[in-house]
Amino acid sequence: MIDMLIQGATVIDGTGRKGFRADVALQGDRIAEVGNLSDSSAREVLKADGKAVCPGFINIHSHDDLYVSRADYLKLFEPYLRQGITTTVISNCGWSPSPWFRKNGHILKGLLFSMGISADAAPEWETQQDFHGYLSARGLPMNFVPLVAHGPIRIAVMGEENRFCTPAELGEMKALVRQGMEAGCWGFSTGLTYFPGVYAHTDEIVELALVAGKMGGRYATHVRGHGATYPLAVEEALEIARRSGCGVQLAHVFCAPYLGLFAAPLYYLVGVLEAVNQVVPLPGLPNGVLKKALRKVDQALDQGQDVGMDFIPYVLGNTTVTQLYPPWANKGGTARLVDRLRDPATRARIRQDVERLKPRWPHWEEGSWSDNYLKSLGWHMMQILSVASDRNRFMEGRRILDLARQAGKDPFEFIADLTVEESGSVSILFGLPPRPWTEKVFTSIQGHPALSVGADTIFAEHGAPPPSGYGCFPRILGHYVRDLGLYSIENAVHRCTGLSASRFGLTDRGKVEKGAHADLVIFDPATVRDRATMENPTLYPEGIEHVILNGKRVVREGQTVSGQPAGRLLLRS
Ligand SMILES: [Zn+2]
Ligand SMILES: [Zn+2]
Repeated sequence: MIDMLIQGATVIDGTGRKGFRADVALQGDRIAEVGNLSDSSAREVLKADGKAVCPGFINIHSHDDLYVSRADYLKLFEPYLRQGITTTVISNCGWSPSPWFRKNGHILKGLLFSMGISADAAPEWETQQDFHGYLSARGLPMNFVPLVAHGPIRIAVMGEENRFCTPAELGEMKALVRQGMEAGCWGFSTGLTYFPGVYAHTDEIVELALVAGKMGGRYATHVRGHGATYPLAVEEALEIARRSGCGVQLAHVFCAPYLGLFAAPLYYLVGVLEAVNQVVPLPGLPNGVLKKALRKVDQALDQGQDVGMDFIPYVLGNTTVTQLYPPWANKGGTARLVDRLRDPATRARIRQDVERLKPRWPHWEEGSWSDNYLKSLGWHMMQILSVASDRNRFMEGRRILDLARQAGKDPFEFIADLTVEESGSVSILFGLPPRPWTEKVFTSIQGHPALSVGADTIFAEHGAPPPSGYGCFPRILGHYVRDLGLYSIENAVHRCTGLSASRFGLTDRGKVEKGAHADLVIFDPATVRDRATMENPTLYPEGIEHVILNGKRVVREGQTVSGQPAGRLLLRS
């Protein structure tokens, strides 16, 4: 007798091919059969007429290892299960709490603190191997796919140094990448606008990626600029991939359109333009930079390079307040940034650069900067997501400009004071006003066949996560399929499952077929939708009815099932 039979659903199998009516039988943690199984008997029958069954969603871009040591971590991950995520690729953007060596642990602790996460100065692990042991023993709510992250490795070897590495240091870093890969990681990740990746030369990344590439790993990267220099940053990532022999995954594809002086009037005009757009469809904001970057990807694909990309299905993103300041101001990490902002003369220099520096490539030298968010979007588009202190808790979810006005300060002085008060632990939501018209900036490229979907959420200790934490994947199935008409349901599911599995070589997940792992979502294609917004980011989605993880029910009739965590640490063998 089989363990579970899902009866009468339309199977959307993750490959992108047309959905078909079939029953799905599960035995243990695997799919035992797909077909007409009306004669089979099962311990549990799940009637799913009118519903769709598809593979569990693979969150190809996450930071879920950053807070897995929190006491309430299982509760924290509930919104993920409720949206149908069964597998998460961790340690992206060059961040990970592993390896964590005692001598430089305080730097990592400071880095996490700037993201709103407090960590133990001496956690239970040191090496990547130890970390994997810790994760396995802890019990995971989803399947975790680990990467080797550049940040903690550079910090382990070079501490807070903000220069290129020496040959000896490179040798030590290569050894750590090798250790991580030997421990079962699936690739190597970088975050080249963040400390310490921002100080690494292209050649350093090539050498490190080579180690991962030789062992079959991928290169996943938050490229060195998401503003005016985006095409150059994408070109650098493609070059690193070519020289290291790695397949590349370009994370959270977006480019903040350069609005400059237009940012303020646009913010107020969006309502008017939106109304006009209802009557006469307007073209989206021009974003030639984004299209130029995509052309580079297409050229690489045409030449046979292995390139994948992912995107967050919102016109919003989240980051830390440290990103609003030029790279030189961040040298040495968050504590040093705070010191600099405390000193009036240095603060004045920082301010001058924030206001005047033109994007220049690359940003290795003092006086250059390839990713000035404020130059792109202006203050109007930014709000506070989370702060560390209770005193400033009221600021969470509010616009910086309004808060500054209330405090009687100009926005730069306001945010600089807040950075000091909170010791750098402030996260920011940035983006365009989320309306259909502004959405066109991004939807114009989101039909690209190499794009899969990632939520890129950080659950800070306070405040609210960005809406992707609750709604990312249902938004693709609902909004992107029904409202925008950008994807067929099969294509949408493919981008959330099979495509992502293939990017990291997960051969028996991301598909509904005999022998594959039983990670499944049963949803209602007519009603599935996200509800979380910028104003109300913690609303659960609708239409995600059942979620099965490694053969176990983790969501039943839309509600989380309590019990032993059913996820696993997936290691590359
Ligand atoms: Zn990133
Ligand atoms: Zn990220």
